[in-house]
Amino acid sequence: MKERIKCLIIGSGPAGYTAAIYTSRANLSPVLYEGMQPGGQLTITTEVENFPGYPDGISGLEMMEDLRKQALRFGADIRRGVATACDLSKKPYTITINGEKEIETDTLIICTGATAKFLGLPDEQKYAGKGVSACATCDGFFYRKKVVAVVGGGDSACEEALYLAGLANKVYLIVRKNYLRASQIMQDRVLNHPKIETLFHTNTLGLFGEEFVEGAHLVRFKGEANEEKIDIAIDGFFLAIGHKPNSEIFKQFIPTDENGYIKTHWGTAKTIIPGIFAAGDVADPNYQQAVVAAGSGCIAAIEAERYLNNTGII
Ligand code: NDP
Repeated sequence: MKERIKCLIIGSGPAGYTAAIYTSRANLSPVLYEGMQPGGQLTITTEVENFPGYPDGISGLEMMEDLRKQALRFGADIRRGVATACDLSKKPYTITINGEKEIETDTLIICTGATAKFLGLPDEQKYAGKGVSACATCDGFFYRKKVVAVVGGGDSACEEALYLAGLANKVYLIVRKNYLRASQIMQDRVLNHPKIETLFHTNTLGLFGEEFVEGAHLVRFKGEANEEKIDIAIDGFFLAIGHKPNSEIFKQFIPTDENGYIKTHWGTAKTIIPGIFAAGDVADPNYQQAVVAAGSGCIAAIEAERYLNNTGII
């Protein structure tokens, strides 16, 4: 049997929980499905230093637990489950959870976030769980006093390299360009860290090792006169090269940009479909910050309430 509700939120990062806090305080009786990774990406980050209100920083896991509790306090119905399909062609909108349960809703707030990207090398599959990881905070513990490499030149890569440098004996940071894209403060920390060696102009060709990763084949200055192939001995290979928005099931109905980010009307959380909103990283190719995601979750919730009022549903 189909369940009929007024407001469905998919995703449990800062955007989803903030939308749940606002919509439950507005008496919309929201149902929130947590998705694949309850609490979202912040649950696997280390210290959150830049969310306003935490002068001493807070662990990502703790912050998400606080947001969850805050949403529960106002009556949000938070459930385990993943949205696997949808029909957004007619009202009420239908969302399928875990391939079986169907929910019909007047408003939908999509906060499905984004997932870590891989390079696409066959060796990433071959050594999955055997030295290849996209989450330093999840797996870093296994590399205490070992040698690891992190790929990427953004804030994520710098954050992962610094975290791993606190555990491992040595960290290579493999950067394909001749500069880091990360914020200045992160660049300074990485470039001045005695355990981190940054390899600029470097790409990964493959990994090697008997059963577990024992090293990486790299190429430096690819395509240039001084191109050079080198091998480094490592025990762990960490990817930090950005994220892919989790918009797949909605693409058939809602326009996305060329990278899959859901398009919203400028400055709002409105998608092309009335009553359907998108907030957080799934709709944000530019900022991808927890505080921005929380703000957009708030905007989506207020807009959902206005939509329900304007259409006479409440
Ligand atoms: P970014 O998109 O900022 O950086 C991705 C990095 O990976 C770039 O250096 C890019 O190289 C590199 N890269 C991408 N594809 C490949 C590839 N195939 N091979 C090798 N290298 C590759 O992603 P992040 O996840 O680092 O950050 C996303 C957003 O989140 C940013 O806005 C960032 O500021 C923010 N963030 C903020 C944090 C904080 O404030 N504490 C922490 C983490 C993230 P190239 O430069 O050559 O394109």
